[in-house]
Amino acid sequence: MWRSIASSVVCVVLASACRGTEYDLVIEGGRVMDPESGLDAVMNVGVRDGRIEAVTEDAIAGTRTIDASGLVVTAGFIDLHEHAQNELAYALTAADGVTSTFELEVGTNDVATWYADREGGQIVNYGVSIGHVPVRMAVMGDPGDFLPSGAGGYGVASDAHVAEMANRIEEGLMQGAVAVGFGTAYTPAATMAEVETMFLIAADHGAAAHIHTRGGLSGLAETIETAARANVALHIVHANSSGGARTAEFLQIIGRAQDDGQDVTTEAYPYGAGMTEIASALFDSWEAWTDERFNTHQWVETGERLTRETFGRYRAGGGLVITHSRTEEMTLAAIASPLTMIASDGFMQNGRGHPRTSGTYSKVLGRYVREQGVIDLMDALRRMSLEPARRLEARVPSMGRKGRLQVGADADITIFDSETVRDRSTYMDATITSEGIEYVLVNGVRVIDGGELVAGAKPGLPIRANPNP
Ligand SMILES: [Zn+2]
Repeated sequence: MWRSIASSVVCVVLASACRGTEYDLVIEGGRVMDPESGLDAVMNVGVRDGRIEAVTEDAIAGTRTIDASGLVVTAGFIDLHEHAQNELAYALTAADGVTSTFELEVGTNDVATWYADREGGQIVNYGVSIGHVPVRMAVMGDPGDFLPSGAGGYGVASDAHVAEMANRIEEGLMQGAVAVGFGTAYTPAATMAEVETMFLIAADHGAAAHIHTRGGLSGLAETIETAARANVALHIVHANSSGGARTAEFLQIIGRAQDDGQDVTTEAYPYGAGMTEIASALFDSWEAWTDERFNTHQWVETGERLTRETFGRYRAGGGLVITHSRTEEMTLAAIASPLTMIASDGFMQNGRGHPRTSGTYSKVLGRYVREQGVIDLMDALRRMSLEPARRLEARVPSMGRKGRLQVGADADITIFDSETVRDRSTYMDATITSEGIEYVLVNGVRVIDGGELVAGAKPGLPIRANPNP
């Protein structure tokens, strides 16, 4: 207290001495929204050295100023499910308001190399899990490059295989993986006993298990029971696509587990189509499909709709396919639920991908908050920033400084126009950026300025667990 009084006295005497009270950046006159404290008021925000140092009604001075009048100022969005961890995807996601992005469902089998490959700064903050799927692929000898197409999915693991997987998952956690990833839908031969062994290791390290479950409602219930036995925190990815026509019941099961005191969370993305590897186990029954069903599948590389003939040909070679499988009603059931965090499940390969990679957050803010009014703006922000940060905090305490627009928080800040924000990316071109996201700061540095990407700005840092907390 005495320091601020003293410096204001000095300021009156000598203007140049005011440097001490000058921020690197001031965000002036925006509608500041913080889901944790409930703050929703016109305020000025002062940023210095990558942190938020002031949230105040008082006038404050900065080396640079952003006029945020008429705009919402809030914590940058945190995407727990983004497979595309490359520069193009980081640029697209930043333009959608995301400041931290994680690949936690599939993850990697080599945590140290994954982080080393991204050293030296990225557009947004980034992190990864050690993944049971890629670890199983390595141990069992699978030929696939992203998801299993051979023994990684269909091979029955011996005790020695399971022990080797357990070792590698433990090693990944020791290298700072922020979670452990699972995709039992992609590893049909992995027994729940094998999964439970890996859950126990995650629990030992305070890491959550992020899982793409198999087997619909009963598979979900079995996964929740297994997690309860292992006492591991559980995060169920994309309730919308795993729940499908039964999304409401899928969410009820998760809600009941929460009511029973179990640490289970979930997420959803706001699109009716999924996307995955055409050679994966999800399509094992394709030869028994009706002819019409192939037409709901779209080949990502060209945008063409498939036939029995082209599906079979592409499956033999592998690649990405979009599946138009769900109604708007199903998507709405997942997005309107207060239980789901918003996560993109984004993926881009050679500039082609799913529009959720670039439009997830602005689509929720534009379509579901503004146009349809099915979610309150503050609740949408809670599910885009605060809840994802909380999901990781047990394992990564520094996430306690993210997902909040508060003094002391990291200056990961998204500033958008709630009247105009909307997604523009499409199933034919997923590289079209969102509209209405005016400024995005990562660690106090602008990466989106006036709606445009700032060339060369790479303030994003690795987010990694301390292996010996
Ligand atoms: Zn995914």
